[in-house]
Amino acid sequence: MNSPAASLSVAIVGAGPAGFYTAQALTELAPRAQIDLIDRLPTPFGLIRYGVAPDHQETKKIQELFESIALSPQVGFIGNVEIGRDIALAELRELYDAVVLAHGVPQDASLGIPGDTLPGVYGAASFVGWYNGHPDLAGLQPRLGAPGAVVVGNGNVAIDIARVLSKSRAELERSDMAPYALEHIARSAPGEVYVMGRRGPVQAKFTTVELAELGTLEQAVALAEPADIPDRPGEDLSPRDRRVKAKNLECLQAYAHADPHSKPKRIHLHFYAKPLEILGADRVEGIRFERMESGADGVPAGTGRTFDLACSTVIAAIGYRACALEGLALAPEGNRLHHDDGRLCRGLYVAGWLRRGPSGKIGTNRADGEAVAQRICLEIPPSGRAGRAGLLDKIQGRGLRTVDFEGWKRIEAAECVAATPEAVRRKISSVDEMLAIAHSCLFT
Ligand code: NAP
Repeated sequence: MNSPAASLSVAIVGAGPAGFYTAQALTELAPRAQIDLIDRLPTPFGLIRYGVAPDHQETKKIQELFESIALSPQVGFIGNVEIGRDIALAELRELYDAVVLAHGVPQDASLGIPGDTLPGVYGAASFVGWYNGHPDLAGLQPRLGAPGAVVVGNGNVAIDIARVLSKSRAELERSDMAPYALEHIARSAPGEVYVMGRRGPVQAKFTTVELAELGTLEQAVALAEPADIPDRPGEDLSPRDRRVKAKNLECLQAYAHADPHSKPKRIHLHFYAKPLEILGADRVEGIRFERMESGADGVPAGTGRTFDLACSTVIAAIGYRACALEGLALAPEGNRLHHDDGRLCRGLYVAGWLRRGPSGKIGTNRADGEAVAQRICLEIPPSGRAGRAGLLDKIQGRGLRTVDFEGWKRIEAAECVAATPEAVRRKISSVDEMLAIAHSCLFT
């Protein structure tokens, strides 16, 4: 099979940030390599389209870089192909010299408390996917309304959800939120949203920019309990962490002194509250928490005191779980694959959240992509495998339709044409509709 004139063929599973950064690094390190980004959806960009908050259009501008990578003659986009459903991972590995798994960690971590499967309980991946128009989640139609929504978790995802639920219709119209979700939230979102952390404000994982944005909403005021917010972080932090945490505390101090009646909606930031049980007979009616206190080493300790919050909706923004393809082993945490510095076995690699767990910003994936590309170039000689042509042959032989980057550009054009003047696009969330547009000649 070895051929001296052959060029390296690499399949990247998942056309999100980790996949694109890997493709970019490969184009630079191996200028003759043929690289295919394969996605189970007809749309590229993964979490940029379906995870980043719809009102954070600045963050989504990274899409322009990814588009320039997709347009490189070395790179192909093959959408609407699911590895493990349409073609086995083993078959893909036969077709390409190397395969990189970069399809993320799509499943919600479960709260693991009584009542966590009641109607009205959602994981953040589902809830965010729903308002971002993910085809699998468009039908979610979450229960919203009085007396309020509780978001469990103190990361940036919890902040995103609280903010989106608290925005006015006019604010939401400036986003690219799925039209059905905009309507549902504008009509039914409750006036009270609670963001609950099991530890204190110094241990909270959200970043200052995201926290501060809660103080800028047209219709909602952010509030905190004065007794929960210390004047300054402890001395046990690095100087950098102390600076970052001090800024969060400054912001929370302002929320602790805000007037709860200054705006019609409220976002309540509560700390030291560990979820114990979701209450309700056949749907969510409330949630019970144990009051925690800060232990000497920052580890929260239970006090045995509990309190209940009435709510119609609970959204768990507490992290994600990986799904293992075809017998690959998960790390004990369950939120990434078990790997050896990015390598799973000969010719099979992993990048992004599936490699390091769900953490970091979009740009964090760049280093992952570079590291994996370097390893591939060092370890894998080109062998003249069938690559893209072989994959397309197999897929078409199974009667399946793929979407290439031109097809995606037609979908994008249709979304832009349908957008209101305030929004950049009106998202399509039906795969059948996307396929019809991708294969039509109307949007070229
Ligand atoms: P995260 O930052 O890891 O936060 C998860 C939160 O869930 C933590 O507060 C954690 O508390 C809490 N938690 C975990 N298990 C829990 C349980 N059983 N009960 C109660 N609380 C529990 O995760 P994320 O918010 O999903 O964000 C994932 C990554 O995406 C992060 O790196 C984030 O910064 C990034 N992101 C960035 C942006 C942005 O830059 N705008 C937006 C969204 C996401 P403990 O700390 O006590 O474990």
